[in-house]
Amino acid sequence: MIRLPGWLRRRYTLLIIPEHSGTSSRLSLTIVPFLLAGALFGLSVASAVILLVLRSEDALRIRTLHEELAAAADEYEASLADREQSIALLQSEVRRLTEEAGAVKRKLEELDRLEAEIEAIVELTLPGEKNGLISDAKSGVKPLSYGGVGGENHPVEEAETTEAASQDSVQLMISLRHEAESMRTRLAAKKEEAARVLEKLRMLPIAWPTDSVRITSKFGLRSDPFTRKLARHSGIDIGGDYGDPVYAAGGGTVIESAYNRSRGHYIVIEHDSGYKSVYMHLRTRLVNEGQKVAQGDRIGLLGSSGRSTGPHLHFEIWKNDQAVDPLPYLHLFKEENS
Ligand SMILES: [Zn+2]
Repeated sequence: MIRLPGWLRRRYTLLIIPEHSGTSSRLSLTIVPFLLAGALFGLSVASAVILLVLRSEDALRIRTLHEELAAAADEYEASLADREQSIALLQSEVRRLTEEAGAVKRKLEELDRLEAEIEAIVELTLPGEKNGLISDAKSGVKPLSYGGVGGENHPVEEAETTEAASQDSVQLMISLRHEAESMRTRLAAKKEEAARVLEKLRMLPIAWPTDSVRITSKFGLRSDPFTRKLARHSGIDIGGDYGDPVYAAGGGTVIESAYNRSRGHYIVIEHDSGYKSVYMHLRTRLVNEGQKVAQGDRIGLLGSSGRSTGPHLHFEIWKNDQAVDPLPYLHLFKEENS
């Protein structure tokens, strides 16, 4: 047995006396239970305080962590959204550029074809070039540098919406722009050349001179319709109706508008480059000597005046005072007018 010190073994009496009447109670105790109860109370208060402090610290730390986490998540989401948005923007931009480049490329190819067609037309409208016609039409016109169109092959369809594709699109746009610029320069030169050629052609006797395209007698040797002897026909006869319009085959100046027994009513027009055109057997002359006419102007009406068997236009072309076969000159225009 542990022997307690004297002050702990000393007993105390607790006397409980009612205020008015009744029995008073007494309780005899040592100090130990009071000390134990006090210690227990103190301990529980202390631990409660400690717990409280600890909990509040934890809560604070947890809250801070939560807030930090939430902020980080927000930031991450925002940057993710930003990035997604910029990727989407980039992709749509690349798509747009690619489509635009494709459209420009098709436009350029179209222009390229057009250029070739213009070239073909310019070549075609110089039919007499080989036999000296319009020999000076292209003089002074330097051959145009034709670099072709194409360059690198950028497969537009395969362009992916990646940065590499974006780079390709930019390169393609740049090269297309260069092509477009050089093509515009070439086309402008072609247009000028075509205008010069057309201007030249308007002053030459190459337009079909009446509405009818029925050739009743060709140029060259033939049996004369009156004498039946072999004779040289210095023009072509185009059968038609009385009063059909007769047109100037080319622009120029009327140098004769007269009548004689053989030619009937006739007109002679002087053109550029040593050319003349002659229109005979007219019913009516509508122009006078010295008058300027343009290609296609009505200069008279078809008839059968002079040495003629019926209504027709006798048409001649003279080159440097020598009759030439008109058909090669009129060929292009006859087919267009017929
Ligand atoms: Zn004739």
